[in-house]
Amino acid sequence: MPNDAPTPRITIWNEFWYERNVPEVARHYPEGIHALLAQRFRRDGFPVRTATLDEAQHGLTKEVLDKTDVLVWWAHKRHDDVSDEVVARVQSQVHSGMGLVMLHSGHFSKVFRALMGTTCTLNWRVDGQRERIWVIAPDHPIAAGLPPHFELQQEEAYGEFFDIPPPDQLVLMSWFKGGEVFRSGCCFTRGHGRIFYFRPGHETFPTFHDGNVQRVIVNAARWAAPTVTERKVPASVLVEPLEAI
Ligand code: ZN
Repeated sequence: MPNDAPTPRITIWNEFWYERNVPEVARHYPEGIHALLAQRFRRDGFPVRTATLDEAQHGLTKEVLDKTDVLVWWAHKRHDDVSDEVVARVQSQVHSGMGLVMLHSGHFSKVFRALMGTTCTLNWRVDGQRERIWVIAPDHPIAAGLPPHFELQQEEAYGEFFDIPPPDQLVLMSWFKGGEVFRSGCCFTRGHGRIFYFRPGHETFPTFHDGNVQRVIVNAARWAAPTVTERKVPASVLVEPLEAI
């Protein structure tokens, strides 16, 4: 993004269930994962709003999404409680150019599965062991400022096969102590919209407090910001021939 581009407007969406119902999770995120991430974005001067599942229309009205350049999404337990109407609205906004940063267990959200068109299934194990994340595209904007690899001492393990379409670009790969590997940082384009899937972020571990994790999320939001001047879902057009036929 050129330096004179406006700072993207961020909306952070969280189902906000675990933090209110599981003390182990509340210990890491007393105000919610969305509040912690909002604080990090504000530190870098981004205009930020948050939205949660229990709000009317899950806080994702057309008015809110029209003013959102990049939507950041965390969810795990209540994917099925997200209304199909809101899923369709988010999908359409991505097609028209809104960016989407999908975190961790969001791989199984209705929104992500709708945009991928695959099952988005994977292998997993909550063992709290070490994850090592390798930067495999060091020149990509999402990798800016990252070391060649970084570690999270406690995480859930995700393993291949991860049923997604081949990403446009892979930025990060994970290795887990149990032997698994996983495509952890995946770039996609759908319509005019950019999507980044980022693997870490299991709720019972303090992952979102990690500086490198926060850096990836902020970089991803900058990368995913709309590249079109006017957001519009691509549409078919009846055209005249350019040459005599
Ligand atoms: Zn998890």
